[in-house]
Amino acid sequence: MTFLFNSDAVRGAIFAEAFARELPDLPFSMDPAGVDPDAVRYLITWTIPDNLTRYRNLEIVFSIGAGVDQFAMTALPPSVKVVRMVEDGIVRMMQEYATLAVLTLHRQMPAYRAQQAERVWRPLPQPQAAQRRVGVLGLGVLGQAVLERLKLFGFPLAGWSRSPRDIDGVTCHHGADGLDAMLAETDILIVLLPLTTDTRGFLDTALLAKLPKGAALVHTGRGPQLDHAALLDALDSGQLSGAVVDVTDPEPLPADHPFWTHPNIVLTPHIASITQPDGAARAVIGNLRRHFAGQDPVGLVDRRRGY
Ligand code: NAP
Repeated sequence: MTFLFNSDAVRGAIFAEAFARELPDLPFSMDPAGVDPDAVRYLITWTIPDNLTRYRNLEIVFSIGAGVDQFAMTALPPSVKVVRMVEDGIVRMMQEYATLAVLTLHRQMPAYRAQQAERVWRPLPQPQAAQRRVGVLGLGVLGQAVLERLKLFGFPLAGWSRSPRDIDGVTCHHGADGLDAMLAETDILIVLLPLTTDTRGFLDTALLAKLPKGAALVHTGRGPQLDHAALLDALDSGQLSGAVVDVTDPEPLPADHPFWTHPNIVLTPHIASITQPDGAARAVIGNLRRHFAGQDPVGLVDRRRGY
């Protein structure tokens, strides 16, 4: 029985050390070429390797990242469990990024940067937090953690998910009707949805038009959820006033892409939150212990739903 680590050597060394300490009886390998394929029961990887079928006794594939949209699920035998990364570092970094993005938009930083470039010293009218409604698409681990942080500032908070949720201090919506209701009352929209067949291209002209005029977007889900032309049109028509965009399609963007220079877009290179190797090793070891005890791992993916 072997755990196969299929990622970079720096992270691998941290995993190897944690596994040797915490699970000394479980052989750990970072060498796909040298390992006995029949011994591999557990694999951690970013993408599914082409030769996956050689691991005939595989039980769990762990994603090294928070999403599993990069996995070609059809390449995986139905019996294999897929587990996404749920790890303190990812959660903490997303709380930081979403807070930064919301405050950037709320306190009109893009406008002040533009004024600075022109040497203009001019205070702008500033709504208070209680007048700035923040809505989050996706009420999973990250959406809920972000809302928890944003409570500190006094923004009216709302969120939307597939199934009904009940979160203290947050107006929760679900389903198609719930989406329209939330969008109509959202000044800053944060996207923390997984990429699935349902959410690909989700952030389109029709959706952005349902926000109040002058609303803003924080896109921290996955690139293919956002229609780039729709965002540019919405910004240029004034339907949206600004956007903080961390994920795009493709990544990186081509050098001539309009997002690079748009005055109302703050663009970052998919850094909102990054798996921290020590926390990831702890999370995977914890999940293996759960698995050995007959429990489902934390972050178990429903392969039919795709998240
Ligand atoms: P999660 O715990 O699986 O939560 C996903 C949430 O989205 C759930 O509330 C789910 O609804 C909702 N949802 C999914 N499909 C939906 C649909 N079709 N309609 C309505 N709601 C839907 O995921 P997470 O850990 O919070 O992560 C969310 C996403 O953040 C990841 O999948 C990834 O795309 C993104 N992410 C980005 C970065 C970055 O650096 N930019 C880093 C980490 C993660 P239910 O509650 O009803 O199931």
